[in-house]
Amino acid sequence: MNMNYNFWFVVGSQFLYGPEVLETVEERAKEMAQEMSKFLPFPLVYKVTAKTNKEITDIVKEANYDDTCAGIITWCHTFSPSKMWINGLASLSKPYCHLATQYNKEIPNDEIDMDFMNLNQAAHGDREHGFIAARLRMPRKVIAGYWQSEKVHKRLGDWMKAAVGVAVSKSMKVMRFGDNMREVAVTEGDKVEVQTKLGWQVNTWAVGDLVKVMNEVTDAEIDALMAVYTDKYDIATENTDAIRYQAREEIAMKKMLDAEGCMAFSNTFQDLYGMEQLPGLASQHLMAQGYGYGGEGDWKVAAMTAILKVMGENGNGASAFMEDYTYHLAEGQEYSLGAHMLEVCPSLAEGKPRIETHHLGIGMNEKDPARLVFEGKAGEAIVVSLIDMGGRLRLICQDIECVKPIMPMPNLPVARVMWKAMPDLTTGVECWITAGGAHHTVLSYDVSAEQMRDWARMMDIEFVHITKDSTPEKLEEELFLKDLAWKLK
Ligand code: MN
Repeated sequence: MNMNYNFWFVVGSQFLYGPEVLETVEERAKEMAQEMSKFLPFPLVYKVTAKTNKEITDIVKEANYDDTCAGIITWCHTFSPSKMWINGLASLSKPYCHLATQYNKEIPNDEIDMDFMNLNQAAHGDREHGFIAARLRMPRKVIAGYWQSEKVHKRLGDWMKAAVGVAVSKSMKVMRFGDNMREVAVTEGDKVEVQTKLGWQVNTWAVGDLVKVMNEVTDAEIDALMAVYTDKYDIATENTDAIRYQAREEIAMKKMLDAEGCMAFSNTFQDLYGMEQLPGLASQHLMAQGYGYGGEGDWKVAAMTAILKVMGENGNGASAFMEDYTYHLAEGQEYSLGAHMLEVCPSLAEGKPRIETHHLGIGMNEKDPARLVFEGKAGEAIVVSLIDMGGRLRLICQDIECVKPIMPMPNLPVARVMWKAMPDLTTGVECWITAGGAHHTVLSYDVSAEQMRDWARMMDIEFVHITKDSTPEKLEEELFLKDLAWKLK
C-alpha cells in the first residue's frame, strides 16, 4: 500500500503590513509546519503565504493535480481578505482543514503594542477565512487550538488519516468473485452511484478464473506461506491438507487482486464452484495484510474495511469485517456477539490466533475449511455500516465498548468479539434498526467516530452517529429531516 502522502500548509495574509511582517509570517509558518510534522502521521509541507487571488488559485490548481497531496491546511497569521480566496476555494477538489491557531501561546503583558497586534491577529483573520468557507458551503474541518499542543496534533493527525481514507477511496478497486448472496437486500447497491460519489471501481470476476489460478499455484509457493502461518499462528489441527488448501486459495486470490490493483474483494458461499472450501484462513490472512473483505458478496463492506484499515494505525489498523450474530440478553449483562461464518480479521485478536478445521454446513464445502479462531480485544470501538438509500448513501456509525467475552463458548468454531452497544444494547439496536444499518459492519478499535464523520463530510454523504446520548425518538426526527435535506441537496 503506497502511503506516500503529504499535506500542504497554505497561510493567508495580505500586502497591508509591509514586507517585514510578511517575512516573519513566512519564517514562522515554515517553522510551524516543520515542528508539527514531527508529531503528525504525514508531513505538513509549508507552501505559500498567499496575498493575492492568483497565488491562492495557483496553489489550489497544483494541489488538485498532485497525487501525493492528500489535502490542504489553511491558517491566517494576519488578516487575509477572503474575497481573494473565492476562485481558489471554489475549484478545490482536495480535503480541506482550517487550523485556527496562533504563533504565540500567551499574550505578552509587557511587550504587547500595536505592532504585536498587527502581526498576531489570527483571532480575526481566521474568522474572515471561516466566513468565506461557510458562505461557499465548503465541506471543511475546523480545528482550533495552540499549534504545539498535543491535542491539536492528535486531532490534526486524525483528520489527516481520514483525508488519506478519501484518497484511497478515490482509487479503490473491488474484486467481486461471483455475485451477492441471493435475495439479500442490504448488500445490494448502486455501483454507478458509489463510483461517482466515492470513486470505487466495483467489478466482477468469475470463480472459475480463480480456480484456474489456484490450480497453477506451486507446492513451493504453498510451503512458503505455510511457514508464515506457522510463525504467526498456533496450528491447532492435524488436517494440514486443509491449511495448505487455504494457502493455495490465498495465493491465487492475492495474485488476482494485485494484478488488477484491487484492495478489496467479496465472495459468497453460494458460488464456490470448483473450490473445495470457502476461503476462511485465506480471507483472514489477506485482511491481516490490509485487504478489505465482505462476505455474501457484500462489496460495500469490503471496500469500507480496506478504507478503515488504511485510516488506522500505520496504514493497516485494527479494523475488520464483522457481523452481528446473536445477543446475550441477561439483565445487566447485555451484549452483542459478533463473528462470521469464518472470516474475522486477526487484527482484532487478543493473543495468538489458532488455526482450526471444522465442518461448515452452509454452502458448498466439500472439505472442512481451516480458519483462525480467537477472542477479540477489550476496548472502545465503533461499528460502521454504509447503506444505499436509493439516490444517496448513508454512513451509520455506532459507538461500542468491546469486552472480553464473558463465556468461553468452547464449541463455537469461529473467532468472536463481544461488545456493549451505546447507549445500551436494546436502545442501541432500536437506533441501528431505525437507521437501516446492515448486519455486516466494519468494526474498528483505532478509527474514531469523529474520523468517520470527517470522511463522510469529505465524501459528501449522509452521516448518522449513534452515541451514548442517542434515543430512538431523537434519531427518528433526525433521519426524517436529513431525508428531506438530502433530497433537496
Ligand atoms: Mn455475513
